[in-house]
Amino acid sequence: MSLEQIRAGLETAGFNLSGTLSPEQFDPLVPEVWQSKHHVPGCRGILVVGSGGRALWSAFARSPEAGLREDPLDRYTARVVGEVADTILPRAGIGLYWEKRDKQYLPMMKLGERAGLGTPGRLGILLHPEFGPWLAVRALLYLPFPVDPGEPQSFDPCNGCPAPCAAACLGQVVHEAGLEPSDCFRTRVLKRGCRVGCAARSACVVGPEHAYTPTQLAHHQRIRWRRPVLGYALRTLLADPLGRGRGAS
Ligand code: SF4
Ligand code: SF4
Repeated sequence: MSLEQIRAGLETAGFNLSGTLSPEQFDPLVPEVWQSKHHVPGCRGILVVGSGGRALWSAFARSPEAGLREDPLDRYTARVVGEVADTILPRAGIGLYWEKRDKQYLPMMKLGERAGLGTPGRLGILLHPEFGPWLAVRALLYLPFPVDPGEPQSFDPCNGCPAPCAAACLGQVVHEAGLEPSDCFRTRVLKRGCRVGCAARSACVVGPEHAYTPTQLAHHQRIRWRRPVLGYALRTLLADPLGRGRGAS
């Protein structure tokens, strides 16, 4: 199975963005437990797997996982990436964006940036020249063969942009230096509009034609109220109960 065939298989399932890293580039960027030499000895190349625009949602909507109640998109991703890994000999290792090892996540945004999937922008997410902020980095394949490593994007769209994203943000949490995730989260807790959409992301001038559908965006924005998330919400609200004018209404 060649890299081109692997990419074609992923693209059919909606994973239409990917980039490559060598183990030497990858290992210094991730916690030790995720490093190729520990997680998948014999790994000789990394494929960073993502999706841009509506392709993933469209493929997922036709899958059996779409009818599941718990984490349907994550389960779809795990199945598809696992099936692709099975076609590679010897079998490729995988890493998924929601997986923890020794309580540590993979730094997907950093890996996506290094592999050339997008460039960090004011919204605190990667921006792609075609898809704008409408992309996600979802998984890794630890390949048993070497790859030509990708290069980071030279794209720099926020520089000089009038930033309609900042003006549109319901919590006023998008600043020139970036977005403070805890302020954004607080606003999502307090404002329904940020639990079903993101006015700031929707105002970005890059790739608006690739914006997620309302259903897709609501799926990504909703808060999954599990015990650790509930604890984080309480700590965030107690630390700044009035939202200092950013998130409270
Ligand atoms: S979710 Fe709300 S607070 Fe967060 S960036 Fe989007 S508009 Fe702003
Ligand atoms: S609207 Fe402009 S400043 Fe805001 S994220 Fe998009 S490119 Fe960057």
